[in-house]
Amino acid sequence: MHISPEELDTKAKVVLQEYEGKDLSSKQRVQIPLQEMPTQDPKVRVTNMQEVALGYTESQVRAEALRCLQCKNKPCIKGCPVGIDIPAFIAEAAKGNHAKALSIIKESSSLPAICGRVCPQESQCQLYCTVGKVLKDVEQSVSIGRIERYVSDYAREHGCETMPKVAPETGKKVAVVGTGPASISAAMDLRREGHTVVMFEALHKAGGVLVYGIPEFRLPKKIVEHELQALKDMGVTIRRNYLVGKTRKISDLMGKDGFSAVFVGSGAGLPKFMGIGGENYVGVFSANEYLTRSNLMKAYAVGKALTPMFDSTKVAVFGGGNVAMDAARTAKRLGADEVTVVYRRTEVEMPARREEVAHAKEEGVKFLYLHAPLKITANEKGRVNGVELIQCELGEPDASGRRSPIEIPGSEKVFDYDTVIIAIGNASNPLIKATTDAIEVNRRGNFIVNEETCETTLQGVYAGGDIVLGAATVILAMGQGRKAAKAMNEYLLTK
Ligand code: FAD
Ligand code: SF4
Ligand code: SF4
Repeated sequence: MHISPEELDTKAKVVLQEYEGKDLSSKQRVQIPLQEMPTQDPKVRVTNMQEVALGYTESQVRAEALRCLQCKNKPCIKGCPVGIDIPAFIAEAAKGNHAKALSIIKESSSLPAICGRVCPQESQCQLYCTVGKVLKDVEQSVSIGRIERYVSDYAREHGCETMPKVAPETGKKVAVVGTGPASISAAMDLRREGHTVVMFEALHKAGGVLVYGIPEFRLPKKIVEHELQALKDMGVTIRRNYLVGKTRKISDLMGKDGFSAVFVGSGAGLPKFMGIGGENYVGVFSANEYLTRSNLMKAYAVGKALTPMFDSTKVAVFGGGNVAMDAARTAKRLGADEVTVVYRRTEVEMPARREEVAHAKEEGVKFLYLHAPLKITANEKGRVNGVELIQCELGEPDASGRRSPIEIPGSEKVFDYDTVIIAIGNASNPLIKATTDAIEVNRRGNFIVNEETCETTLQGVYAGGDIVLGAATVILAMGQGRKAAKAMNEYLLTK
């Protein structure tokens, strides 16, 4: 049942009355109830693109911060890929010192308002939280991400963020390819050291997946724009509509344009397809295209956007990850009557975050497990009118450790759909490799880099994020951007 934000705030105030300002034992802290995230009512939010999670109130953030035990060994930090001093910032948030809390976070992370929203915390920092361990439920861990989000939003909204200091100009020029989280982190750290930084983005808008992939209802674009503005305020130049490899090759940037080093954060934007018949019919989309139409081109703003919306009645989304959830929830908001996520295994094996699956269900997305697509069918005009599915059962675990789906012969059946969205994963962007001989990639097409420095096989060229890791996470991309920037700075100073 949906609990209103007002009710959640009242509950938090009761907690504060009972516990705040007292010398609490660990036992008492663990007993403090977890503060739920206020959300828009599912019936309302499915009709708009606004953010689903509304953020804690001041009372909620202080009540949640009281749950932290301030563990001496700080186990949560080892779960954070950028090593934020979590207990320290939570202690400040508990006292209402949100600007101080943010400055602690910013020592390690450049995008906390984003990570506080989209990090898979239950498999990172919160996985290691002692409170979750004591209560034997990771979902009961201290809500580190939600507190992080609150203090970042607070500082932004109250104008109490501090600008990173920029060292005196070094006279060295660095090119950063892409404007996703890996590139943003690298650019910020390189600029801090006083280097001239120019970012090159293929699309007409900067931000990478944060802008074209993750929907507005999970990550408002104004937050990404705010972070990009901070980069510009520091003196970073962002050149859009600039496809490195085509507009200019890496060798030209370094040989002719005076860049002493290059960071490549070109991501994993190449959609994978299923290799079944009918994938070229009208009404079949990769999740990337579908989400880009909605997020980047704002197709949902009918009458205002140049990109038309694709009218759908019954939508099938293939895949079981977070991208599939984003696509399905977007299709619901774009007006489809029925949206079904079709997955070859069961809910247990589904890689999507539990929270995203729960939100999708609340919004009326259906799930059809243990079914795999055989072919997409179409009418005489080539427009999708169905998908032939075959039932599966679970066999032995495969290389991923998940039980593999085995098709059941004779169980084929055609289901009616007029739109198919394929969300089975993305591969690395191949253009830069194809136009830069000395860069070596692995069999998946990911750049091979030195693990310590993120340097590629071409001297002076570094890489990080999805182009190295394959489709991963925002915080891992950021971690690599920072690691590369540190090594690039050393390279530039000794060169
Ligand atoms: P990207 O964000 O992919 O940015 C790469 C940028 O480089 C793009 O803007 C691209 O246009 C540009 N580019 C590519 N080639 C060139 C070129 N030749 N010249 C110039 N520019 C170029 N992660 C999470 O942690 N939490 C989530 O909730 C989450 N949800 C996701 C939802 C979706 C729909 C998708 C697709 C991914 C999601 N991820 C999530 C994964 C996460 O967004 C990525 O791991 C992360 O964005 C990778 O960052 P990056 O900087 O490596 O690349
Ligand atoms: Fe946790 Fe992500 Fe914040 Fe690190 S950046 S503390 S992993 S939410
Ligand atoms: Fe607080 Fe949990 Fe970290 Fe301990 S592990 S310091 S309880 S957030």
